[in-house]
Order: sequence, then C-alpha cells, then structure tokens
Amino acid sequence: MDVIIRNISLFFGENLDYIDKGHIIINRGKIKRVGSGDYEGGYDYPIYEGEGILACPGFINAHTHIGDSFGKDIGIDSSFETRIHPIHGIKNNILQKSERKHLINFMRSSAISMMRKGVVVFADFREGGLQGIDQIKEATSGLSIKSIILGRPDYYYDISQDFYKNRQFTPDIIKLICNILNFTDGLGISGANENTDSSLNQYREIIQKKSLKKKYLIGIHASESLETEKKSITVTGKSEVQRIIGNLSPNFIVHLTNASDMDIKLVAKKKIGIVVCPRANGTLGVGIPKIAKMLSYGCCIGIGTDNVMINSPDMFRELDYIWKLTRTLEDKPVPPREILKMATVNGAKILGINSGAIVTGRSADMIFIDKNNLDISPMHDPYTSIVHRANPNTILNVMIDGKFVDGDII
Ligand SMILES: [Zn+2]
Repeated sequence: MDVIIRNISLFFGENLDYIDKGHIIINRGKIKRVGSGDYEGGYDYPIYEGEGILACPGFINAHTHIGDSFGKDIGIDSSFETRIHPIHGIKNNILQKSERKHLINFMRSSAISMMRKGVVVFADFREGGLQGIDQIKEATSGLSIKSIILGRPDYYYDISQDFYKNRQFTPDIIKLICNILNFTDGLGISGANENTDSSLNQYREIIQKKSLKKKYLIGIHASESLETEKKSITVTGKSEVQRIIGNLSPNFIVHLTNASDMDIKLVAKKKIGIVVCPRANGTLGVGIPKIAKMLSYGCCIGIGTDNVMINSPDMFRELDYIWKLTRTLEDKPVPPREILKMATVNGAKILGINSGAIVTGRSADMIFIDKNNLDISPMHDPYTSIVHRANPNTILNVMIDGKFVDGDII
C-alpha cells in the first residue's frame, strides 16, 4: 500500500536540490515517486500532511566501532596508541575483560542512540572475530537501524618485526577469514602497520574469490596519526596509503588525517572512497583531515563517528565540526551542501547501498525535521541550517525502509 506525504519540503536526489513544497510517495519500503508541487493522484491511501517539515535523507554513519560502547571516556588523557591499539590498547583490554551482556547492552544503546539522531545505516568495524560478529548481531536484533558489519580475524602482525619476513596467514587463519565473510558484509582491517604485504594480498585474494557469489566490502584505517605514518615510512620505505593501494584494493580508507598530498591524489585517482572521522581525530589530538583539499582532488568523502569509546555517535555534531574547522583551517571553505552530501549521498555511494538520497527507487530512509523548531526557525538557508544548527531535538521522526521509527506520526 502506498503512503503519501504532501506539502513537504525536501532535499531531492543526489544533488540534494531543495524543494520548498513537494510530495513523496512510498511503497513497500521504497520511494515510489517524489517531486515538487502537490500530489495529483487519487486519495485512497494514507496521507500525511508535511507542512512545516523538511525531509532530509537519513544519515549514513560510514565508520563506527560500537563494540567499545562500554568504555566511554576511559583513558581520556592517554596517548593514541595507548587507547585504541588493537593489541595492547586500553580498548582491547575492555573488550577482553568485560562481561558479554554488558558489552551487548551498551552496543544496543549506541545503535538506538544513533537511530534517534537520524542515522539509518552504520558501517561497523567489528573486532573479536566470529564472537564479535555474534555480539553485534544480538545487540542490533529487532532494531530498524541497518548495520553493515565488517569483521576481522583479530590476527595482527607488527611491521617492525614481521615486514622483512613478509609473514603470511596460515591456512587456519584463511579459513577463519572465509568463515567471517559468511556472516558479514566484508572486512574492516585495522591498518597497514598491522599487516605484511603478503597478508594484505591474502585479504584481497580471499575477497576476490568470495565476491564471485556476493559483493563484499573492504575498509581499512590509514594515516590516522603522524606516529603510524612515520612508522610505515621508516620500516617499509612507503606510506600507509602506498602499501594499501599496492597490496589490497580497498573500497574505502578511513581517516587519512595525516596523509600527504601525493597520497590523497593517489586515492582520488584510484577512486577509493575516504571516510573521515574529524571529531574522533580531535579527541585523540592527531590532527584534522584536509577535507577541502580532498574534495578539490575529486575524492568521494563520507563521514564516520568512529569509536564510541572516544566520540559520541552523533552525525549532527560531526557536520557542525567539519563546517567550522574547514573554514578555519583550510583556504577554501566547504559549502554546507557538500558536507551534508558526505553524511548521506556519499556514504551510500562508498558503501554501495540503496540509501542516502530521496529519489525514486531508493529505500525510504529519511529524517523529518521540524522547520518551526526554536533552534532552527526561521530557516533561511536549509543546508546551513541542518549543518550547523539542527540537532536531535529538531527531529520529529525518522523513517527506515518506509516505516516510522518512533510511532506512526510526523
Ligand atoms: Zn576506526
């Protein structure tokens, strides 16, 4: 059965063109028709009045680790490596020592919190092998928010010791990676410094082989801090990006906070997506990604909130932070419309999902914003308004796959 929303303002299509008064028709979880002006068909279907409401594509949080939701703000004064290193970091200690039910409860809280803040899809790098995947599935079961789970075998090399030996994964680890892929959407790899050239190549080969039956994603962190970048160059003679592009062919790279211009150009040339996490970078004090520069080189940029342990999974705050920081730190300001695309259209493009835009055929994943809310009214520039004034309080409801998340009202 169709659902019709009329007299609604909306951001239309992949260019987020603003329509002041339009209509959206939803059928079986998808957008059946959308356009300006009033709906002129029959009125046999449920009709919602959209006067005073702005429909924005639902946010795609393109990089999270909700597994550490239990460790909020632990070790706040410690260094980057001390907090989140996959082997000897405080984070790993928390994941190992906490009770399963606590980890799951807090992961579920993060998923609900994201949904209330307008996130319709999140892509999670899940540590902990098969057990970790099992936990996130249990934590998100029954919730409308959609998750893309990118697993890993939790088997790490240290390039300082293993690079020249060029160690390889054993058949047992390869079997585990294949098994992980049976339950996930792909791989979320820690970084180049935790892999030899051989192991990166093995990841690529496994994905290529498995992708004959189902399309899998590969994401990997790179150039997050200057220390990790320096380590890569000192030990291997190459930057993290150079090693990744030479050995892995990922769909997207997370961070690139300290990447050189040459590396950013290389990523753009190879059409690899970039997922920036500026607030998480800010918490760790590792720098701020050069977003205006990335855009000028033609990169496709998405946004992630990264570890819940170090940052809140709030895309509104991320938008605001990016807009003001790029204005302050870079020569060319990034227009709010481009920043909003990063949180919606681009995230969907990078992850290859049918979401992120209000256009015919896409999943009906939308945020309904109250234009009359005290914080944003009067709305003179809808893009700027969403990017640096809107907040979760301005949301009337969120729709995922054509269903309202919070009761049947807008
Ligand atoms: Zn991360």
